Amino acid sequence: MLVVTKFGGSSLSCATQFAKVKKIVESDAKRKIVVVSALGKRDATDTKITDLLYILHAHLKFGVPYDDIWEMIYSRFKAIKEELSLTYPIEDDLDSLFGMLSKSISEDFLVSRGEYLTAKLMSDYLGYHFVDAKDLICFNYDGKIDYALTEKKVKVAFSEFGILVVPGFYGAYPNGSVKLLSRGGSDVTGSILSKCLNVSMYENWTDVSGILAADPRIIKDPKAIKEITYEELRELSYMGANVLHEETVFPVQSLNIPINLKNTNDPEHPGTLIKNVCDDKENIITGLAGKKDFVSFNITKDHMSNEVGFLRKALTIFEKYSVSVEHIPSGIDTFSVVVPKSSIERCQYEIITELKNELGADVTIASDIALIAVVGRNMVNQSGICGSIFETLGKNKINVKLLAQGPSELNIIIGVSQKDYELSLQSLYKKLIK
Ligand code: ASP
Repeated sequence: MLVVTKFGGSSLSCATQFAKVKKIVESDAKRKIVVVSALGKRDATDTKITDLLYILHAHLKFGVPYDDIWEMIYSRFKAIKEELSLTYPIEDDLDSLFGMLSKSISEDFLVSRGEYLTAKLMSDYLGYHFVDAKDLICFNYDGKIDYALTEKKVKVAFSEFGILVVPGFYGAYPNGSVKLLSRGGSDVTGSILSKCLNVSMYENWTDVSGILAADPRIIKDPKAIKEITYEELRELSYMGANVLHEETVFPVQSLNIPINLKNTNDPEHPGTLIKNVCDDKENIITGLAGKKDFVSFNITKDHMSNEVGFLRKALTIFEKYSVSVEHIPSGIDTFSVVVPKSSIERCQYEIITELKNELGADVTIASDIALIAVVGRNMVNQSGICGSIFETLGKNKINVKLLAQGPSELNIIIGVSQKDYELSLQSLYKKLIK
């Protein structure tokens, strides 16, 4: 049995956090592969190493003095080395990086040093072998991961060293130059390694005890979700729940490797288990999420329902302007196309004009719409959920502007006016989850 254990930046912000990580890793012999992010924030006012490196790159690029920023980066790594009495000569790595700083240094390379140096310190501290992600995570030149080659390299490294620390967030092109994943990508590194070694569990350690059933900025102390399916997680993340990097699930899902989200500051808490099938029938609703800033194009035309191809023609106009469509609630001679506000800022009037001229439709716009997703695998074949939703919103004098439920019955999407967003979530949480 093998476990990939990934620690996020807040679990690695200082020597005290490093000590917690060591305790966690050493408490289970299955934790043989450790993936690290770069040193994170020590408190709310602090800056992550990754962000400092991006800022450093901008200073270099525009020829702005960067001594202060460099000093901030240098001192954070040095402090951890000293406080933990490590022997790894991190100063040499830092000095050699300093020597490479120039206008033309690759941003991906420079930023990846956050994870690289953090992993160097962690490998010394744990006594695990350091393996550079550039030698494991292989990108094709089109930016896609070459899974076959990556798997081969990961297996070789694992059989050679047995216990390893790997920096997250980057890999390399075939010519060896470093390529970053997108922000938060260390989650994906952990997931790729889990897939390559077909491990029994992928653990993702952060500073919260799992996924919360609602946004804590809106709901006070929401409860943590015990178990959630990959699909439910996808729905919640897509609708704004900020949990794992969006692409984390894909590599492990096909092999049915569970992901356990855990809290480095509360390791006894079971956290959230993410897997293909969850048997737990305790809750009908797993969680709520939501996003603001949508716009609805309400398109009406007499006898539209008899006109074959009408919907396609309308959608072609949105496609032409590269606008991604979120929902299409429909009536008999009318339907709405709901899109993110940001995607039509430049082309709203062009789209309206084309819908009118080419399709002869009446078009009105409803802006400032917020969407709320009520997500739950146990909603299938359950009656009364929509009833409760309407009753709750009605009692709070909230008007439902649109409603959508997919055939899988995994979620119900409710569109409300933006001003009613917080109250909608609060009242739904109280009724459906608390
Ligand atoms: N350090 C990177 C970031 O801040 C990657 C990660 O933490 O996953 O985005």
